Amino acid sequence: MTAGAGTMQAKVELRCTSCGRAVPAKGATQFPCPSCGEATIGRCARCRDQSVTFHCPKCGFEGP
Ligand SMILES: [Zn+2]
Ligand SMILES: [Zn+2]
Repeated sequence: MTAGAGTMQAKVELRCTSCGRAVPAKGATQFPCPSCGEATIGRCARCRDQSVTFHCPKCGFEGP
């Protein structure tokens, strides 16, 4: 038996918190919620460029 030859990592789909669309890992920004720190905020390149307000799905925090 061989061990450690492949960790199963679920593909996490990043979604833009502002527009709700799935965004590719490239060109998008993701960071933990500055308020609760539990939810991951995702922003696509377009929303980031236009400084669209995001909201945390967990605590409802809104911010730029
Ligand atoms: Zn977006
Ligand atoms: Zn939050």
